[in-house]
Amino acid sequence: MRKQIAAANWKMNKTLEDGKKLLNDILSGVGSLHEHQQVIFAVPFPYLIQCNEMIKGKKNLYISAQNCHHKTSGAYTGEVSVDMIHSIDIKYCIVGHSERREYFAESNAMLAEKVNLCLAKNIIPIFCCGEPLDIREAGSQNAFVEKQLEESLFHLDQEAVQKVVIAYEPIWAIGTGKTASSEQAQEMHAHLRNVIAGKYGKTVSENISILYGGSVKGANANEIFSQPDVDGGLVGGASLIAEEFLQIIAALK
Ligand code: PEP
Repeated sequence: MRKQIAAANWKMNKTLEDGKKLLNDILSGVGSLHEHQQVIFAVPFPYLIQCNEMIKGKKNLYISAQNCHHKTSGAYTGEVSVDMIHSIDIKYCIVGHSERREYFAESNAMLAEKVNLCLAKNIIPIFCCGEPLDIREAGSQNAFVEKQLEESLFHLDQEAVQKVVIAYEPIWAIGTGKTASSEQAQEMHAHLRNVIAGKYGKTVSENISILYGGSVKGANANEIFSQPDVDGGLVGGASLIAEEFLQIIAALK
């Protein structure tokens, strides 16, 4: 079975103390995970080292960065490189979250560079894609998301692309309380898997975990995650509340 993942994206929330308490509360409640299940915490940069210490030795739990820069090093004040993330033993990095695309003008081409840098250091990119509301209303979401994959991932060879985790996050559902219906999520996930199969073959497409993101919470996680092509979720708001996130973890297949 491909990996089923509950990934928390704390974004720019929580002080160190609050974050440690949240992580502790979740760690106390999480129980043991199946071999194919993973729980990932994308925490703010300043807490990566401490949070990584807290999950050390715990099976199938990981800490992730929320972003990385698309150049290896140099005069980019305030930025964080993949090498830096690698040097503190972080295994995952979110790439191309819609907030980064929108507020920091991250293009598909720039995200391809980030993906390459991550993979070169054995950091797994959690690659986000998803359409804005006007594209959904125009019915062009499939082509829109397909292009994001083509321009940021499809230069990879078969071996490399299978290492990537994809998160489909319709922008109109992020932080809005408006969740895509489980049918809408399944439809897009199946479409993406087909597109990947067309490029790399069915075996590769069946190996890639595709997470859903957009107002996932304890109350809807079961229904969304039960869809055959949905392999868990990338979760913002609800990942900041221990009981909610524990329910989401419990909903993993
Ligand atoms: C996200 O930021 O990736 C996200 C899905 O946020 P929320 O769960 O709050 O919609």
